[in-house]
Amino acid sequence: MKILFISSEVTPFAKTGGLADVTGSLPKELKRMGYDVRIILPFYKMIHNGPWEIAPEGYSSQVHLAGAVETGVLHRTSVEGIPVWLLENENFFGRDFLYGTPDDDYPDNLQRFAFFCRWTADFLEKGDFLPDIIHCHDWQTALVPLFLSDKYREQNSVIFTIHNLAFQGIFPKVSFTNLGFDFSETALELLEFYGNINLMKGAILSAELVNTVSESYCREIQTEEFGCGLEGVLQSRRHDLSGIVNGIDYTEWNPAADPDLFLPFSAAEPTGKAANKKGLQQLLGLEESANTPLLGIVSRLSAQKGFNLIAKILPRITAEKLQLVILGSGEEEFIQLLTKMKGAGTKSFSFNFGFDSGLAHKIYAGCDILLMPSQFEPCGLSQLIAMRYGTVPVVRKTGGLADTVKDPRDAPAATGFSFETYSSVSLWASIMRALRTRKDMKSWKKIVRQGMKTDFSWGVSALRYEELYRLGLKKKGIINASGKRAARRTDPGNQEGHS
Ligand code: ADP
Repeated sequence: MKILFISSEVTPFAKTGGLADVTGSLPKELKRMGYDVRIILPFYKMIHNGPWEIAPEGYSSQVHLAGAVETGVLHRTSVEGIPVWLLENENFFGRDFLYGTPDDDYPDNLQRFAFFCRWTADFLEKGDFLPDIIHCHDWQTALVPLFLSDKYREQNSVIFTIHNLAFQGIFPKVSFTNLGFDFSETALELLEFYGNINLMKGAILSAELVNTVSESYCREIQTEEFGCGLEGVLQSRRHDLSGIVNGIDYTEWNPAADPDLFLPFSAAEPTGKAANKKGLQQLLGLEESANTPLLGIVSRLSAQKGFNLIAKILPRITAEKLQLVILGSGEEEFIQLLTKMKGAGTKSFSFNFGFDSGLAHKIYAGCDILLMPSQFEPCGLSQLIAMRYGTVPVVRKTGGLADTVKDPRDAPAATGFSFETYSSVSLWASIMRALRTRKDMKSWKKIVRQGMKTDFSWGVSALRYEELYRLGLKKKGIINASGKRAARRTDPGNQEGHS
């Protein structure tokens, strides 16, 4: 099986959140399973500045977009033996950020990602590499299945993964029409959304299979409360819709061999965790204290992540004998609030604005508790990382958080604490419950150990993706019920590939 990942961000090249973690780590697991996996993403400025060995692929082509001709030049690099294509267009991708400045989204995101999709679809149709599975991720890649010709699509299956339904790629119809693509009426209907154009809707309706990143979120998004207006569309595809919880990359997230840590540790040898707490307290100017509970957050600063609740409990955190460290970037309202709080100069609170991978690793390792009171959470990776690093998550019971964190009230082998009602009172009650448990170190250490020992690697979830891919191929009649390829295809560039 040949698989192409199409994504707007991929670790380690360009990352704003969990999407990059998934598109960076799932391909590695699929490759380990023996599949021919490749990745394509835009060639952002930050990648130019990175330490990668990048060579021109010797291929470029043009796309007509809004009356102009835009050229895309293909480059090639690799990560752990996986070929990675980088699509260069200086005008669209030679910028400081992926989707927008800290103040606002780029106003031409529709053009930028329509270009990415159109160019990639044209490249695929050229046929040098014929993937069996075209795996698209989030709205930035949603136009790919619509750009591919019917004839081309007979030979493969498109899987569309929703990493966050809150970002759908909705644009005014006129902006889309102005791009000048020759879409049929039928295709336009798939994209139509209350007078606007909704790119994600188009992909949900045109991919062979759609999935999202946890089973709970898969159920939730079919309801009005979580469906962001697409619940009806998702219900209409319920037989082709599934949830597969994300894993984390155990080579990047391994406390026993993490170069960012002050000292390595593991479930079998946990003593080094204390040195990481001390090191973090020193680094951030917090009072050095082994006993004071240290709470942490590594997150986008957004309402989705529960910062309205965090804002309400901040004064209580500093009043109690607790410490809180926050690392994040995002919405202005929360930046201002946290910066003001930091300005008060308390030695129990540290706000670190920005995106800082090294500090994120130190926070996961040094804290006792990770807070994640999300309003909704498709999967969430921070809680998985925290558990691997012996940091006990306190989370809202929603989406992937509900699927991955086991509360002592619900499960004998608890790994964290959770609450249902989205309120600061419930959040605070859960924190207090965690702190009461921590007073009995034996019970606490059991929870820590159980979290550290739970397998959050890609092993299991990659098998589910393998199943999903096979289902996609069966739907198209490319493989038969017993999993054998139904008909041979000609594949000029890759005849050595296994089937
Ligand atoms: P999201 O909804 O933002 O994708 P996830 O929990 O799924 O949330 O994934 C977030 C990922 O981004 C995690 O790997 C987390 O450690 C990382 N992350 C988030 N904010 C920051 C930051 N400010 N600095 C470094 N890493 C961050």
